[in-house]
Amino acid sequence: MNYVVLDMEWNDTAPKEVNDSGIKLVHEIIQVGAAKMDEKHRIIDTFSAYIKPRVYKHIRDDVTMLTGITEEMLSSGNDIKKVMEAFRLWCGDDFIFLTWGPDDIPVLQNNLEFFGISCDWIPFYFNAQALFNVQTENKGRAYSLEYAMEHCNIDNNSRLHDALNDAVYTARVCAGFDIEDGIVSSDEYEGTEFGRIEIPNNEKREISFAFSSIEEAAESRFGSPRCPECGRVLRDVIWYRVNEKKLIADGYCCGDYAVVLTNRRVSEKTFETVKSTYAIDRINEAYFDFLEERAEETEIWQ
Ligand SMILES: [Zn+2]
Repeated sequence: MNYVVLDMEWNDTAPKEVNDSGIKLVHEIIQVGAAKMDEKHRIIDTFSAYIKPRVYKHIRDDVTMLTGITEEMLSSGNDIKKVMEAFRLWCGDDFIFLTWGPDDIPVLQNNLEFFGISCDWIPFYFNAQALFNVQTENKGRAYSLEYAMEHCNIDNNSRLHDALNDAVYTARVCAGFDIEDGIVSSDEYEGTEFGRIEIPNNEKREISFAFSSIEEAAESRFGSPRCPECGRVLRDVIWYRVNEKKLIADGYCCGDYAVVLTNRRVSEKTFETVKSTYAIDRINEAYFDFLEERAEETEIWQ
């Protein structure tokens, strides 16, 4: 498994263009940069491409000031469709996607939709900025990449706001704190928006206040891993203990499913157990593999 860190630069002018399907192009991507890191946090490859704009051909002065990208540089760029095909191939098929901040993926999605390019390959991503926040001051701040670099003692030798440099810097920041623990500890429901993730394909979410430990919950009827389609108990279930608050079961029935049980104290006497059942697919598979590789198999008696 690798990490793919993505960063992009974009441009727009007013008024905003709307296509025949009524989709508005909010910003047009002009540069894609990415760094691929292995599990030991070594940068093993990079990707960089300029995109020749189809819509907002005038590059705003402040965009050029910030990014160093000029209209001239983009005139030799490639079409977004070609760049995205190359990027998709370059990513491979076993990776965890990371960005700094929550903005890049919605912009990517908007561009692909606007230009009629398939979006279904975009994996869900972790916001490294949020994970960094949780592990440092945890003030719910959106730390700048520059701040995080300083925190991790990374020299600012190459220009910031270049998509490739920023992707490389972000990868190095991720190597400078415990990114694995950040991913393992992030929860769908817990914490602020700066610590939360949204795992796609959540088929079912149930909550109970009846259990004071994760084991107790797992051993109960509430905790039994069931098929969200037909309600039967999943077959060939394997349980994994991720940490003292989180267990995962995977198994199959009408499809392949992962069931995540989390337990946390919500007041002096009350605990909340959340059971989320996901359909495992290409989009979220790398995440569940990631968790299971870092967890211990455990026996649960039901
Ligand atoms: Zn079923």
